[in-house]
Amino acid sequence: MNQPERYTITAALPYTNGSIHIGHLAGVYVPADIYARYLRLTGNDVLFVCGSDEHGVPITIKAKSEGVSPQDIVDKYHAIIKASFEDFGITFDNYSRTSAKIHHKTASEFFTTLNDKGEFIEETTEQLFDEEANQFLADRFVIGTCPKCGNEESYGDQCENCGTSHNATDLINPKSAITGNVPTLKQTKHWFLPLDKHEDFLKEWILKGHKKDWKPNVYGQVKSWIDDGLRPRAVTRDLDWGIPVPAEGGEGKVLYVWFDAPIGYISSTKEWAAREGKDWEPYWKDENTKLVHFIGKDNIVFHCIIFPAMLKAEGSYILPENVPANEFLNLEGNKLSTSKNWAVWLTEYLQDFPNQQDVLRYVLTANAPETKDNDFTWKDFQARNNNELVAIFGNFINRVVVLTNKYYNGVVPAPNELSPIDNETLATVKAYPDVIASSIERYRFREAGQELMNLARLGNKYLADEEPWKIIKVDEERTKTIMYVALQIASALATLSEPFLPFTSNKLKGILNLSSSDSTAENRIENTWNEVSTKDVLLPANHEIGKAELLFSKIEDDTIQKQLDKLVASKKANEIANATVEPQKDSITFEDFTKLDIRVGTILEAEKMPKTKKLLKLKVDTGIDVRTIVSGIAESFTAEEVVGKRVTVLVNLAPRALRGVESQGMILMTETPDGKLVFVNPDDSKVSNGLQIS
Ligand SMILES: [Zn+2]
Repeated sequence: MNQPERYTITAALPYTNGSIHIGHLAGVYVPADIYARYLRLTGNDVLFVCGSDEHGVPITIKAKSEGVSPQDIVDKYHAIIKASFEDFGITFDNYSRTSAKIHHKTASEFFTTLNDKGEFIEETTEQLFDEEANQFLADRFVIGTCPKCGNEESYGDQCENCGTSHNATDLINPKSAITGNVPTLKQTKHWFLPLDKHEDFLKEWILKGHKKDWKPNVYGQVKSWIDDGLRPRAVTRDLDWGIPVPAEGGEGKVLYVWFDAPIGYISSTKEWAAREGKDWEPYWKDENTKLVHFIGKDNIVFHCIIFPAMLKAEGSYILPENVPANEFLNLEGNKLSTSKNWAVWLTEYLQDFPNQQDVLRYVLTANAPETKDNDFTWKDFQARNNNELVAIFGNFINRVVVLTNKYYNGVVPAPNELSPIDNETLATVKAYPDVIASSIERYRFREAGQELMNLARLGNKYLADEEPWKIIKVDEERTKTIMYVALQIASALATLSEPFLPFTSNKLKGILNLSSSDSTAENRIENTWNEVSTKDVLLPANHEIGKAELLFSKIEDDTIQKQLDKLVASKKANEIANATVEPQKDSITFEDFTKLDIRVGTILEAEKMPKTKKLLKLKVDTGIDVRTIVSGIAESFTAEEVVGKRVTVLVNLAPRALRGVESQGMILMTETPDGKLVFVNPDDSKVSNGLQIS
């Protein structure tokens, strides 16, 4: 494609069954936002849309487990997610949701068009059914062994281990996620998109057409999919949460969430156009529009095969020019997991690091999982903040602003003749817009971010080499020239940092009295991205700048340790939650049970047994008598703590000697997975000593 007339940029619709974390930001939203901001800065017509994905099985499962309605779940998380995006400066032109009326209408019409054109196959097939729950089991409602990689925890629609997408009936040993039962097969009618029919088109369009410009990880996954052979894919589900199937026989069925979700990009565009008084169609139907989908690798098949097949079948839409999917970000060596709380949540990050959104944006870009899975570590976060943002970028700006205020009361000095070093430095600065742009346009955001930092390095080195703080003592005129050059570099940084560090860029523009998105003052100066290359003067002599403000601050070890401690706590909580339950013992008769004489008692006295770690010697009132019981609870309780405690005692256990003391019974305890003992006792004040438990 030659220079496009406009760009439609989409970012994967986040699924509204939880908040968002650094993995989402690194994989999709930060790179998409850098791309959108850069294109706007270079004067392009850009539409950047997203929205909440609010249908599908996991939301109904979450609602069930919390005892609320699916609508309650999506309302809650839609609000949280939307606020997080705003907090981190993600500049969507529109953030919609798939429960919106306009989306239901758009998706319904899309389905009807395909149905009327005969693009679907209607088929009655046998689907997994849970008799007890009286429900068909698709997608996440069923768990079983992945037919491709053998992962025993694969979902019905997709294996999270190998990324394979399949039908629930493909699973080996399927089990209902609702009841745990082995499902039966029951007949039901569904609409299928015959992907096999689109195989030739997909081969031509992607395998031939995008061999060179798509990322190897994306191209490779798509190729392996197509090489495996494409099969018809159901686009409807037996479910009551979603968009009703608008066709005869569609009662009780909804559109498959993966059919309706990508249409959400289109409905979000329509919502934006209606609000802005624009025409939505060119953004989706004009061949001079460049459509780019930003997604994570788990969505590749849907955005590179299924959605394009849908668009092609519909007939009036353009296809994506690129789908720069990222791999996954890990956290401290382990896979990010919402359910295991192994994540850095954006809401928590902002509480712990207020006003430091750019630090996270920067680190996630520097470490982006662009070509392979990558690891976020708090040590690296600290190092990049302290050694790059503070020591290079922040330090350079601070020295320039402080010295300009100190020497010239904040007024940009007029330069004298430029030295060869000055000229070379300014020429290098002029090259940066193209250098950074070239990386961004090839979706190499890590590289782009590092080039931005290289520009700050250039400034830092220039000051360190020219030493204006020394020269001022011997040559005031030369100092003016040095400071003038340094101020030009600072201005270039203010403009070029915007896509990456938008909050910092705004702050820096404020300090330099440059025009920013929210500035109104008349004496401000506007520098566009391209003007950093073309203008000879970015900040003219006699222009007045403001006072120095710190752009970044050092992050100390104890701050990082707190984050690491948080993760250790999560890990421990997971171990507890995942502790295995002992299997049930062999059956006993009622008679066997009645042999046990269990009574309510009270501990009257307690003392630690000398030379033992675990044992307490207790005097217990059993209602029958007061007797001595030796109990192995000293690691969980002190003697003082248990005196007066109501307990449950097995009183007819044959007495036995423990360290020379005869123990006449046993106190019933349970143990938490982290090894803490807990008394098992009837919790009611009317229960008195000696009462039998049966
Ligand atoms: Zn698998």
